[in-house]
Amino acid sequence: MRAVGPKREDLEALHEEVRDRLRSADQLFTTGRRRLVELLAEVGRPVTIPQLIAADSGVALSSAYRNMAVLEQVGVVARIVSSGEHARFELTEAVMGHHHHHLICSTCGRVDDFTVPDDVEQAIEDALAEVATDSDFLASSHRLDLVGTCVGCASTSG
Ligand SMILES: [Zn+2]
Ligand SMILES: [Zn+2]
Repeated sequence: MRAVGPKREDLEALHEEVRDRLRSADQLFTTGRRRLVELLAEVGRPVTIPQLIAADSGVALSSAYRNMAVLEQVGVVARIVSSGEHARFELTEAVMGHHHHHLICSTCGRVDDFTVPDDVEQAIEDALAEVATDSDFLASSHRLDLVGTCVGCASTSG
């Protein structure tokens, strides 16, 4: 898992961003919080807290939930609601500097990231900007998720 993670310099920039955000909220970048951020960066996809703990037995369950809540409050971590038993978490687009969408399986709750080509993304943005204008809404970003059945669930239900 470590081999596919971000490069060291990327990780340091990420840590600096997270430290700044925690500091603005009078929170410390503790070892436990740092480990969660590192694990989320290494995994690179939305995961549940039990999945993160399985990836690092040194992380305690109760502190992982508490620390994840703090990281969510300061905009470092985003919670993705799916049909699974556990919420899934990922580093926010704000700290990762990269925009994407989700494929959400409504049977098992699995969540995968996907991106679309720049011209498609631009077309989505243009269409949504029109909606915002018509609704007197000040849009700052969009979320676009596909909900359905993952390949694993499709093959076991047939
Ligand atoms: Zn599934
Ligand atoms: Zn988009």
